[in-house]
Amino acid sequence: MTKIAIIGGGAAGLMASIIAAREGADVTLYEHNQSVGKKILASGNGRCNIINTTATADDYFGTNADFATYALKQLPFTSFVTFCQTIGLLLDIKEDGRCYPLSNEAKSVLNALNSAAKNSGVKILTDTKVTALNKAKEGFIVHTDHEKYTYNKILIATGSEAAPQLGATDDGYRFATAFGHKIIPTYPSLVQLHLNSKIHAKMAGVKTFAEVTLSINGKISEKIQGDILFASYGISGLAILDISQKASLALLNKQNVILNINLLPRFTPDALKEILHKLITSVPDHTLETVLGGLVPAKTVPYLCEAVVINPAKALSMLTPKEISKLLGLIANWQFEVTGTHGFKHAEVSGGGVATIDVDDTTMESKLVKGLYFAGEVLDIVGRRGGYNFNFAWASGMIAGRQMSKK
Ligand SMILES: Cc1cc2nc3c(=O)[nH]c(=O)nc-3n(C[C@H](O)[C@H](O)[C@H](O)COP(=O)(O)OP(=O)(O)OC[C@H]3O[C@@H](n4cnc5c(N)ncnc54)[C@H](O)[C@@H]3O)c2cc1C
Repeated sequence: MTKIAIIGGGAAGLMASIIAAREGADVTLYEHNQSVGKKILASGNGRCNIINTTATADDYFGTNADFATYALKQLPFTSFVTFCQTIGLLLDIKEDGRCYPLSNEAKSVLNALNSAAKNSGVKILTDTKVTALNKAKEGFIVHTDHEKYTYNKILIATGSEAAPQLGATDDGYRFATAFGHKIIPTYPSLVQLHLNSKIHAKMAGVKTFAEVTLSINGKISEKIQGDILFASYGISGLAILDISQKASLALLNKQNVILNINLLPRFTPDALKEILHKLITSVPDHTLETVLGGLVPAKTVPYLCEAVVINPAKALSMLTPKEISKLLGLIANWQFEVTGTHGFKHAEVSGGGVATIDVDDTTMESKLVKGLYFAGEVLDIVGRRGGYNFNFAWASGMIAGRQMSKK
C-alpha cells in the first residue's frame, strides 16, 4: 500500500486525500490549525463560492497560466458535481457560473469533505505543524515538532501566505526551495489598494458604482465596472478586488500604477453634459454642492469641487463653460495613484509561488524530485474572483491524489 503524506488540510489537500484514500492509498493529512479547512469556512463571506462552471486557463494568472488547462479539463464542472454527490454535497448554480452549496453555508462544504476524508480512511492530524521535509533513501521524511515519519510520496498543499490569521504560512515555498524548486515572487491578490491622496480617508465609507480604469506605466491595463468603497487606507470594493491582481503585480515590479475612476459610468460624456445643462436651466440658483449631491455621493462633492477649484456654494448659473468642462472631466476621470496593497493579511489569495515549469501539469509531480507533488495555491497559479481559486485547488488536488495513489 502506498504511504502518502499530505501537508495542508485546505481545499487541495482535502480533495487529494479523499481521492488517494478511495484509490486504496494509506493517507495521512497534516494540518497545523486546530481544524482543517479554515479558508473554506471563511470563503465567499461564509457561503463558499465553491467553483465556477465556466473556468478556463484564461481565468488564471501566473508565469505560465496555461499550466492550469490540463487540470481544469480533468475536472470539468459535471465531474465536480458527480464528486460532490459522492460526498453528499448539493450545489446551487448561479446564472453567471458561480456555484455555492445548496445550504448557502460554507460549513456544509467542509463537513462533507471532512466526513468523506474520515470515512475513506484518511488519518487527519490537526494541530500538527510540519517543520521540514527531507528525501529519504526510499521516499520522504516528514518532520513535525515532535516526531518524524517516512512516506513513499508527499504532497505539498500548504496554500499561500494570504490570510495568515486563518493559518496561512509560507512553509510550502520553504519546503519546495529545499528540494531545488524555484519560487516566483509572491504578491497579494484580490486585495484592497492603498492610494497616494489626502482625500480618500476623508471619504471613508463612500460606496458607489463606478468604472475603474487601471493604467500601468501609462498604458491602460484593465477597465472594469462595479462597486468601489473609499476607506481610511485607500480603496476597496469588488471592482477594486477585481483589478487588484494586475495592480499588485505591477507594484511588485516597481511600475507606476494609476486608477482613473468614472463616478457616473452609465452616462456618456455628452449625456452627462446634457444633464448638467438641463439642470442649469431648471435650477439655475441651486448651488453646485446641492446639484452635485444629486448626482454623486455627497461626501465626494467637496473634494471634487476642491480638485477643480470651484466654490461649492457657487450658483449653477454662474459656472463658466471652462469650469463645467473641468468638472465633467473630473467626474468621468478622477485620478488616484496606487502606492501599495492592503497586504497579505487582507488578501484572499496570493500570486506567485512554486514555479510551474518544474511541475508536470498532468500529474502535479515535481520534475526535479520523484514522489514529490504540489497542488493548489502554493503553485504559481492564481485565479480571478468567482470560485476560480477553489476550482484550481479541487482540480489539481484531484490529479495529485489520483497519481500519488498509483504504485
Ligand atoms: C477570506 C477568503 C475568502 C475566499 N473566498 C473564496 C471563494 O469564495 N471562492 C474561491 O474560489 N476562493 C476563495 N478564496 C481563496 C481560497 O480559499 C484559496 O484559493 C484556497 O483555499 C486554496 O486552497 P489550498 O488548499 O491550496 O490552500 P489552503 O486552503 O490555504 O490550505 C492550506 C492549508 O495548509 C495549512 N498549512 C500551512 N502550512 C502548514 C504546515 N507547515 N504544516 C501543516 N499545515 C500547514 C494551512 O493551515 C491550510 O489549512 C478565499 C480566500 C480567503 C482568505
